[in-house]
This record gives sequence, C-alpha cells and structure tokens, in this order.
Amino acid sequence: MAQVYNDLLKKTKEQIRETNPVQTDEFLRKNRQARLLDVREKNEWDDGFVPGATHIPRGFLESRVEEAVPDKETPVVVYCAGGVRSAFAAKTLQEMGYTDVVSLAGGYGAWKNAGLPTIKPQTLTKEQQSRYSRHLLVPEVGEAGQLKLLASKILLIGAGGLGAPAAFYLAAAGVGTLGIIDNDLVEESNLQRQIIHTVDRVGQYKADSAAKSIAALNPDIKVNVYKERLTADNIERILPEYDLIVDGTDNFETRYLVNDFAVKYRKTVIHASILSFNGQLTTLTPYEGPCYRCIYPDPPPAAMAPNCSEAGVLGVLPGIIGLLQTNEAMKTILGIGETLAGRFLLFDALETEFTELKLRRDPNCVACGEHADIDDLLEQHKRGDVLIPACRIA
Ligand SMILES: [Zn+2]
Repeated sequence: MAQVYNDLLKKTKEQIRETNPVQTDEFLRKNRQARLLDVREKNEWDDGFVPGATHIPRGFLESRVEEAVPDKETPVVVYCAGGVRSAFAAKTLQEMGYTDVVSLAGGYGAWKNAGLPTIKPQTLTKEQQSRYSRHLLVPEVGEAGQLKLLASKILLIGAGGLGAPAAFYLAAAGVGTLGIIDNDLVEESNLQRQIIHTVDRVGQYKADSAAKSIAALNPDIKVNVYKERLTADNIERILPEYDLIVDGTDNFETRYLVNDFAVKYRKTVIHASILSFNGQLTTLTPYEGPCYRCIYPDPPPAAMAPNCSEAGVLGVLPGIIGLLQTNEAMKTILGIGETLAGRFLLFDALETEFTELKLRRDPNCVACGEHADIDDLLEQHKRGDVLIPACRIA
C-alpha cells in the first residue's frame, strides 16, 4: 500500500511546481492578484494560518474553488501542514484548468519555522462555547456576536443600585472588560437592592466587592477597578478606554461631566435614574441622538433634587431599570435591534406602566449643537467653571 502511495506522491510532485516559504512570501507581496489557498482541516486552520489565505479544506477543494477563484489564470499558491496534501491539491487544480499553480513545500510548518507572519483566528474555547451556548443558539448573537461581546469594554459609573445589576448581567453575558468606578463603601442599607454586594463585604469598597462577585460568576471577565470619584482631572484617563458607558451615577455634577466628555470622545452613554417607584432611561449617542444637555440644558436647583440616601426607592426598581440599561448596552455592542436613542422611557412601578417620550437634538445645545465649542466646555470643566449644584436625584 505504502509503495503505491509513495509512487503516487513522487509522480504527483513531478507534475507540479513547488516553492519555498521565503519565495512564496516575496511572490505574494509582488503579485497582489495571486491567491493563497489553505487546504487543511478546520481544527488546523483554527490553530493559525498565513495572513491573506482562503480556507478550503482538501475534501471541498473541487466543489468550492471555482467560486473562490473564478479566473483560472489567477496565480494560486496552495499550502497544507507539510506539503503533501497541497501537492495533490495543486495537481487537481491543474486538472481543473488552473494554469499557474504552485504548492508550498514543507507547508504551514515550514512557513512558521521561517519566522514568517501567521494569524490565529478568533474562536470561542470549548468552555466558552458551553458557557455562552444560549447566546450561540440565537442567530442575532451567534459566535460572531459573542466574540464582539468578549472584545468589548464597558465602563460602569457607580456600583450602586443601577450599576450592581448591570455589572452582574454584563459579566454573565461575557462582556470581556468591565471598568467599575466607585469610591463608596458597601453599607448595610445598600443590600436591599445592590445585589452584587454581600453581608461580609460591608465596609469594603463597592468597586472591589463588585469585582469579587464578577470573578466568582465569570472568571473570563477582566475588571478594571477605580476606587475614585470621577472628576474632570481623571475622566480623560478612564473614559476614552471604553466603547460604551453605563451611567449609574446619582448626581447631576457627574452626569454633565460624563455627557460632555462622552460627546467629545463620541461614546454612547446609557443614561438612567430612579426615585421611589419611578425610573427613566434613554440611550445618548453623540451626534446621532440628543445628548444629556439637549434634554436638560440646565440642572435643577439643588433644593428640588432629593438625595438618594434620604429618598426611598423600591428595592426591585433599580434592578428593572439597571437591566434595561444592560439590554441597551448589549444591543449597542452587538449592533442589533432599535436602541432608545431619541426616546425617553419612563417606568412607573406602582402602575406597572411604561411611557415613552420622543426626544430631539437641540440645535442650540452647548455640547453638541450647531455652535457648540466642546473643547471650550471641557476646559471649563477642568478649570472648575461648570457650576452645577452637587444635588442628587437617585
Ligand atoms: Zn446636546
């Protein structure tokens, strides 16, 4: 048997042309129209491939190559792992009428050994396939969507009522990097609604406590902990790092600060606030929908805004609103569905009633309007000239 095979391989190699990795690399650089075909199996491809290669496993070569390379005059380089399968593939391609075919001698192994560049395709590990299987079953998410989530970075401002459920579910869903900024400590009175914290962590930083719960739930997630208050001095170090912001802050000062820097860096902010039985949220996408200043050009007087530690809230309300924020965040990352950009959603927990208001951009907005000078606005923040009462509304 082996003798027949050896003779066949020898005969095949006499009928085709072979090239070495360095020659191939030069040839592909000079001949941009040339095509590189990888005829290995999927598991081999998943371990790494040559940049620019098209993957057609040897068993599918005859049926798929004409679609991938319609012009038979196109120069084609074929490779496999060691140069044997590609030799047979090159002969087949010649028989199919391809006029300029070479096989890479030594295959992918020789290419790698020559120190030439390779790419490892992004795929989910076995463990990830199992953990996120219910996402993989939804066509709108699928493996590509899960990889997007894993590659995304979301900043949570506050690990309190809204931030706690949001962080928990974003971590469970596999959002790869979560930034959590909060300089408060866990108090007993937080546990009525801030479910990411536990009794034994009372007195610890909320950001640390949230990171511990996330690590226990999904060790895949990278958590960046910021035990500081967000200010004009540190926001440019933190905010630009992230794709999206989930705003769970409880004061106007931080909201205007976040808004203005988010407009500058074009980051979507999922805004929400809660009070007793009422919640509200919207998605603020700079220059596509209104920003926070389009909706609230001026902050209300301090006396009008109760402090959350004084005002009560039904324990489940931040859970409901925080998860609606999470839903907005996930859709925005995945690029699916309709977000709340341009829509203001109000929720009345007593009546179990949702109301929606239309929102428009304000052409006179000082942050995103026609004559806005966003850089000047940021300078005002840095100088401490943006006078906003440090009142709290949630
Ligand atoms: Zn605006």
